[in-house]
Amino acid sequence: MSIVIITAGKETTGWAKALKAKRPELEVLVHPDVVAKDKVEFALTWGHPLGVFKEYPNIKCIASMGAGVDHILRDPELPASATITKLEDPNLTRDMGLFVVALVLNHMRNLTAHKLSQQQHNWNRKRYLTTEDTTIGIMGMGTLGTHAACLLTNLGFKVNGWARTEKQLADVKVYKGEEELDSFLAKSDILICLLPLTPQTENILNKHTLNKLPKNAYVINVARGKHLVDEDLITLLDSGHLEGASLDVFREEPLPKDHPFWNHPKINITPHIASITDPASAATQVLDNYDRLQRGEPLKNIVSLKLGY
Ligand code: NDP
Repeated sequence: MSIVIITAGKETTGWAKALKAKRPELEVLVHPDVVAKDKVEFALTWGHPLGVFKEYPNIKCIASMGAGVDHILRDPELPASATITKLEDPNLTRDMGLFVVALVLNHMRNLTAHKLSQQQHNWNRKRYLTTEDTTIGIMGMGTLGTHAACLLTNLGFKVNGWARTEKQLADVKVYKGEEELDSFLAKSDILICLLPLTPQTENILNKHTLNKLPKNAYVINVARGKHLVDEDLITLLDSGHLEGASLDVFREEPLPKDHPFWNHPKINITPHIASITDPASAATQVLDNYDRLQRGEPLKNIVSLKLGY
C-alpha cells in the first residue's frame, strides 16, 4: 500500500522523510511521478492542481497537510468516494496558541511602538492595557480557538468565543450563530479570527461587523485572508474606529509588494507563520488515518463537505 503526496509546487521531502521515518516499509509517492495511479487509495495534499484526483480512480482518503481544508474543497471535481480529513496536531495547536498570545501582548504592551521609538532614540512611556481592561473575542471555537481561549483565560483575560453551535465552557462564554454575532462583537476589545474559510465565513470581517467592535478595538486575523475585506479594514483604521490590526494571512500570498497593508502604520504583518505544520510531528496523525483506512475503521478528523470544515 502507498500514500501519494500531491501539492502544487510545495516542498515535499520533509513529509516524505517523516512518513518513511515512522513507517519504513510504506511506499511514499510524489505526484506526478506515480506509475500505477489506480493502486493509490490515500493522498496527502496541500493546494493540489484542480481536477488531479480524476487521475486516481480509487482514492478513498484525501488528507490535508494542515488544519485548513479550503485548499481542497475549492476543487469542484473532488471524487465523491473520498473522505476528506484535516490535520489536528498538538504542536500545530500549541504554536497557534502561543502566536496569538504573542500578538495580544505585543498590542497591549505597545512593543512594536516602543521598537519604533527606540529607532528614533525617543523615550516614550506609553500607557498600556491591562487584562482587566481587555475582553478578547475569538471567532471560531474549534481546535485552535478553544486552545487559544484556554491560554488567554489562564493569563487572566476575560475571553468570549463565537461558534456555529452551542458550547458550554467553564471560563469562556461562547456566543453562537448569526443571531448572537453582534452581541459578541460589541464586547470584543481584541477580536481574533480563527474560523475556517467557508462560503458562510468568507468576507466576515467587513465594515458592518468591524464597526460593531468597541471603539479602539484591535483585530487579529490568523485564519485566512479571504475572511477580511481589505479596504474595509483600512477605512476603519483610518477613521480611528480601530486601533490596529495584526495580519498573518492574506487574499494573495505572498502579499503583493504594492499592497497598502505593507506601509500602513496601524498594521503588523507576518508572512503566514502563525503555526506551521511540522511533518515529523504530524505524520503520526496521517499514519493513524492511513491505518484506519486499511482496517476499514472510521477515520478521524473528517471534514463535512456540507459545512466546509
Ligand atoms: P475547527 O474546524 O476545529 O473549528 C472551526 C470553528 O469555527 C468551530 O468552532 C466552528 O463552529 C466555527 N465555525 C465554522 N463556521 C462557522 C460559522 N459559519 N459561524 C460561526 N462559527 C463557525 O478549525 P481549527 O480550529 O482546526 O482551524 C481554524 C482555521 O485556522 C483553519 O481552518 C485554518 O484556516 C486556520 N489556520 C491558520 C494557520 C496559520 O498559520 N495562520 C495555521 C492553521 C490553521 P462549531 O464548533 O459550532 O462547529
